[in-house]
Amino acid sequence: MQDTYQTDYHIHTARCGHAGGAARDYVLAALSRGLSEIAFTDHVPLYFLPGDDPDPGLAMTRAELPVYVEEVRALREEFAGRIDVLLGLEADYAEGHEAALREILAAHDWDVVLGSVHWVKGDWIDAPGSGARHEREGTETLWTEYYRLLGKAAATGLFDVLTHFDLPKKFGHRMPPEAADAERAAVAQARAAGVAIEISSAGLRKAVKEEYPAPPLLKELVGAGVPIVFSSDAHAPAEVGWGRAEVLAAARAAGAREFLSFRKRKRRRHPL
Ligand SMILES: [Zn+2]
Ligand SMILES: [Zn+2]
Repeated sequence: MQDTYQTDYHIHTARCGHAGGAARDYVLAALSRGLSEIAFTDHVPLYFLPGDDPDPGLAMTRAELPVYVEEVRALREEFAGRIDVLLGLEADYAEGHEAALREILAAHDWDVVLGSVHWVKGDWIDAPGSGARHEREGTETLWTEYYRLLGKAAATGLFDVLTHFDLPKKFGHRMPPEAADAERAAVAQARAAGVAIEISSAGLRKAVKEEYPAPPLLKELVGAGVPIVFSSDAHAPAEVGWGRAEVLAAARAAGAREFLSFRKRKRRRHPL
């Protein structure tokens, strides 16, 4: 099957403190792999934690955000006509802090805003060492709470795309059956909100060795009419477009017939 229009909608930069390489090298990597467009979506400054730079290893500072925006704009201009470089953001959803996020999002002219739930019950769900939380706090509790927050994130309308839908599996802790209702509710909320989801190859590089979302969950989401984008969640130039064949195959196996791209937060549909 043809695959002429290739996109990667989840790409970080070294500003977040846990990615490597120059931003320009991510674009060059995308070009060399034949991608048509990429969206830089670095982590939003941790607006919901106290202090100006609560965790330098997880996100850029507030002061760096306009610099990031300018860098992506400059790359867009430099590579115009060869590859489309979009200005995006991976924005954490943090319950109770919606107004602060709204303010950050209003400050710049984003092409696409990803919504992520990384902060669950007062701690990270996916940071190094977070896997031990499942033994300490209970897998069922974490999965149920994660999906409650993801559904709420969808309903805020703040995001264009929900990322890594089943993120708590990252370290290999599969969703227990007791959390299935919470998952179903999150799917229903995504559908009702009209938000898209990503099919991400990042999970294939993690202990779980499976794309996000898992095939049965992806089938449920696609069946519910939730649109998709493709992503690698690249934290290094070598990861741009990584796993492209796998996420494409996953989309087709789930019955998807189209995928989305974005400009100024307006969606375009592309046949698959
Ligand atoms: Zn990251
Ligand atoms: Zn993420």
